Amino acid sequence: MIDAHCHLNFPQFQKDLDEVIKRALDAGVEKIMNVGTSIEESRKVVELAKKYENLYAIVGVHPHDADRLEKNWILELEKIAKNEKVLGIGEVGLDYFQHEMGKVVDRKIQKDVFVKQIELSLKLKLPLQIHSRKANGDIIDILKSYKIEFLNPPGMFHCFAGNIDYLKNALGLGFYVGFDGNITYEGLAPGENTALSDLLEYAPIDRIVTETDAPFLTPEPKRGSRNEPSYVIIVGNSIAKIKHTSLEKVDDVTTKNIKKIFDI
Ligand SMILES: [Zn+2]
Ligand SMILES: [Zn+2]
Repeated sequence: MIDAHCHLNFPQFQKDLDEVIKRALDAGVEKIMNVGTSIEESRKVVELAKKYENLYAIVGVHPHDADRLEKNWILELEKIAKNEKVLGIGEVGLDYFQHEMGKVVDRKIQKDVFVKQIELSLKLKLPLQIHSRKANGDIIDILKSYKIEFLNPPGMFHCFAGNIDYLKNALGLGFYVGFDGNITYEGLAPGENTALSDLLEYAPIDRIVTETDAPFLTPEPKRGSRNEPSYVIIVGNSIAKIKHTSLEKVDDVTTKNIKKIFDI
């Protein structure tokens, strides 16, 4: 299997990254995509990807970091993205959910930073890895305006959440959709009205991507501890259960999906 989205550059992995990666490989995770959230973290994910053969980098500025950018950030990002272990531009998008005690980055700034990164991804012919929270209408509107220029496939939405209509729009634009350990959680997440299992049931398996978002979103029954890429197998098992199929099938199809998106 492949973990298409995690953050092994975060401090939670500082002490035991070697073991974390080894555990993933031993569990049958063939590739791990480590994702940047700022210019500085994007530099870090590239450095880490150079160090570990099975680790790849996705680089970009997360909407939470969109108001902390220096003047030439997009040129910096372009330089970083030219490394051969970089597979995509992400995680980029919009996030209107309150975080850090009520803080939401100005929507206009978020949109501007998102659009600049879509344009960079088109210029470099790299797929997008989209982050969206409570901003689904605006995300679709912006992506639609670039539709004719998109790669085929254009990329994936990471940690998909929303309603069936939004899912239809994302699939209609050619995107794949990623699911994480939160599909094992009971009930709805704050602010959501459609269960992740319903979205997963609707999404065709040949458009689904597996991910962990480690160190966050630890799947049951490990919830409460740090998440790590080896747990993508638990995510795969949960997808298999919801889709009434086998783990082997989920492994086979999602691995092919991810390789197709990122051209590996
Ligand atoms: Zn995200
Ligand atoms: Zn993430």
